[in-house]
Amino acid sequence: MTVEEPTEHLVPAPERTPDEVLIAGEWRPGGGAPVDTVDPATGRTLAVLRGADAADVDEAARRAARAAADPAWRRLPAHRRARLLHRIADLVEAAAARLADLQTADTGKCRGETLALVHSAAATFRYTAAALETAEDALTPARGDYVTLSLHEPIGVIGAITPWNSPIASDAQKLAPALAAGNAVLLKPAEWTPLVALALGRIVRQALVEARLPTGLLSVLPGPGAVTGDAIVRHPAVGKITFTGGTRTGRAIAHTAADKLMPVSLELGGKSPTVVLEDADLEQALAGVMFGIFSSSGQSCIAGSRLFVARSRYDAFLGELVARTQELRVGPGTDPAAQVAPLVHHRHRDGVAAYVDRARADGARVLCGGAPPEGERYRDGAYYLPTVLDGLPHSAPACQEEIFGPVLVALPFDDEDDLVAQANDTVYGLACGLWTRNAATAWRLARRIDAGTVWVNTYKQFSSSTPFGGMKDSGLGREKGCDGLRAYQRQKSLYWGTASDPLPWALG
Ligand code: NAD
Repeated sequence: MTVEEPTEHLVPAPERTPDEVLIAGEWRPGGGAPVDTVDPATGRTLAVLRGADAADVDEAARRAARAAADPAWRRLPAHRRARLLHRIADLVEAAAARLADLQTADTGKCRGETLALVHSAAATFRYTAAALETAEDALTPARGDYVTLSLHEPIGVIGAITPWNSPIASDAQKLAPALAAGNAVLLKPAEWTPLVALALGRIVRQALVEARLPTGLLSVLPGPGAVTGDAIVRHPAVGKITFTGGTRTGRAIAHTAADKLMPVSLELGGKSPTVVLEDADLEQALAGVMFGIFSSSGQSCIAGSRLFVARSRYDAFLGELVARTQELRVGPGTDPAAQVAPLVHHRHRDGVAAYVDRARADGARVLCGGAPPEGERYRDGAYYLPTVLDGLPHSAPACQEEIFGPVLVALPFDDEDDLVAQANDTVYGLACGLWTRNAATAWRLARRIDAGTVWVNTYKQFSSSTPFGGMKDSGLGREKGCDGLRAYQRQKSLYWGTASDPLPWALG
């Protein structure tokens, strides 16, 4: 099959969704509870799947272990594994429009964003293929008559558990390095958004079949986290969990992993500060702050959800910010003019609304938004207006807890020490944005603020070669870059004796 051939069969249209799960290369209904997925723009049910139960996970894990150990895979040289990843990228790109439609239907996100996410997923497979082909095992300095090597080997079976906010990007970020490193993968998408992971499963399965590789290398197992996810984490054949999701879930997974002495990578929540300094360029800062919180309707782990503005500019900046926020176009993800799409699910929208109500009760001023939009167009969708709050102490829940919606809390600061104290007064440490024209200020603050990623005069930009991950309760480990590939391997040291004499008893 070449890229030009039709790929429609790999990605069902949103109106013809699959009713199966993928267990070690075989499509069939799962044995678990129904998982229903809803278009949040309309409230219409897109699909009801039979989720995977613990018995399905057990079968998938056993077959994954066999596939991982299969010499056809185990002995496949790195450049041939890289070819598989390029093939997956080709198929993802060829199906990009369909995948983007599916993700917009499943998550509600703007179509422009979902298309960008699909291309970023393809780029992740390509970057990882390149990293794999160029990764070197090190010849380590010897201290005797031997040669020493530090080798990297696959772990075996990886459990990859992903959230609902950017499914194809999170799935690819785990699947690409895990396969590149020579493992088999059990992929568990979030209950609310299983469709894109299943479509990606079709694509990977197709690429495995074409390459005559074991199809047991990938299972896609939708189902409730407490059932399907937990069964994956606990399964004895699973040698590592890579998880993206909430901090509470990540901590529970880490507890189970500790009992198994199993490595985990955890990409967790955030409450990221975005900082407008006295000398910031107004237009750049306004656009960046708004994009940082309101793109993806704020449903992003790196959302710049706490805005700190130098006190001397606070009122003027907020006035302009509120005026422009009120102009943002709210609408369905399928409308090319929409900038703020519905939230992923009506239940999630209600949770966001409850946070704002609580903030009001805590004394917040609601400068704009603070309610679902009115009108026939919004009646059935999980919409919420972009919202700006201020007047809260930094200890208030709206300043401390991840709301994961289009809600920005604004706070003034007096000087750098005050800023750093407030910015770091959080359990999280995922990201930070700094808006300033002064390079020395940016450098100082970038080093003082607890964040895995700092953006200066930009926000939410990503390169596949730059490591990503959190500090503090925002996570453990890094994805992307060469280290992202190594995170799916075990290290082995090899000593190869070169002396022709027998070993003496006293080694020095
Ligand atoms: P969540 O923790 O509720 O669920 C994430 C995944 O874990 C889902 O697939 C879920 O089914 C599964 N799960 C739930 N309980 C489980 C258990 N006991 N054992 C195993 N798996 C279980 O998170 P969510 O609501 O889907 O996603 C939103 C969260 O994800 C936010 O906190 C957000 O910040 C975070 N997130 C982080 C990043 C990052 O890279 N740091 C990226 C995106 C989202």
